[in-house]
Amino acid sequence: MSAPLLSVRGLTKHFPIIGGPLGVRTIGQVKAVDGVSFEVGAGETLALVGESGCGKSTTGRMLLRLTEPSSGEIDFDGVDLLGLGRADLRRRRRELQIVFQDPYASLSPRNRVEKIIAEPLDVHGLCANLAERRDRVTELLRLVGLDAIHLRRHPFEFSGGQRIAIARASAPQPRLIVADEPVSALDVSVQAQVVNLMQDLQERLGLAYVFISHDLAVVRHIAHRVAVMYLGRLVEIGTTEALFSAPHHPYTQALLSAAPVPDPDRRRTRIVLSGDVPSPANVPSGCHFHPRCPVARAVCKETVPALRDMGGGHQAACHFGAPFPIPV
Ligand code: SF4
Repeated sequence: MSAPLLSVRGLTKHFPIIGGPLGVRTIGQVKAVDGVSFEVGAGETLALVGESGCGKSTTGRMLLRLTEPSSGEIDFDGVDLLGLGRADLRRRRRELQIVFQDPYASLSPRNRVEKIIAEPLDVHGLCANLAERRDRVTELLRLVGLDAIHLRRHPFEFSGGQRIAIARASAPQPRLIVADEPVSALDVSVQAQVVNLMQDLQERLGLAYVFISHDLAVVRHIAHRVAVMYLGRLVEIGTTEALFSAPHHPYTQALLSAAPVPDPDRRRTRIVLSGDVPSPANVPSGCHFHPRCPVARAVCKETVPALRDMGGGHQAACHFGAPFPIPV
């Protein structure tokens, strides 16, 4: 991996549960994110994957401080993001942007495309005059495969809503974009266009992505490395190739067993996990995964497994970290 652009250490978000007789006492905590550490290199795509509620979107929001962490460290290009005041953080956000799942919900429906894309340029004072602003927005539209005729349209008037969101996120020339389920609300054919567009922009602009998704086929296509989350913790991280071919964590193995196989002549034996994901308000002791783990042993209930190096930068949080071949 290239030198880290983003370095996250021990990132935690615990939401208080308020209750008691008067409804004002903290009676518990939802451990949405519980001590997550990872790095992202310049120009790299790190995918965050896991089931709904595993903490991946909260992690993404914390990277931009849209959600304030409970504890931890976020270092972006040598700057401690959590130590920044409001004004400095706003300036830094020029280099850190986010794209949300539903472009029609995240882009104001009242505004025309030109205003939507120009907003970050205006916020950061990046254009000297209106002519320069229009030229820049037109250039951004072309970058995402649209044209100047779209300037006066509203996002809901055409099917390229996510392209508008990506053009807007790219406007202030960021170095990293957090993409939170950017293609999961799109038709399959549009999904492929948007993924290819993101890869193209990465090559042209040197962007890094934190790509949050539950779609492992898309992740396999776009990510350089993959981090797997379960109940607020990172359970495995490695290169896409290593993680897909030899997952070390039983949860990763189960996730991959449910993903489609590119070769139509091959079929995987699906590993069906017992029970539901426990509530993050009442997480199991030891290894969070132990109530559902098909190979759990006594030690798993007692002791939290640390992320251990499996070689080549591949890490897994399992007491028994041998690679588990995926049955096919
Ligand atoms: Fe399963 Fe134990 Fe490994 Fe957790 S530590 S994944 S419960 S074997």
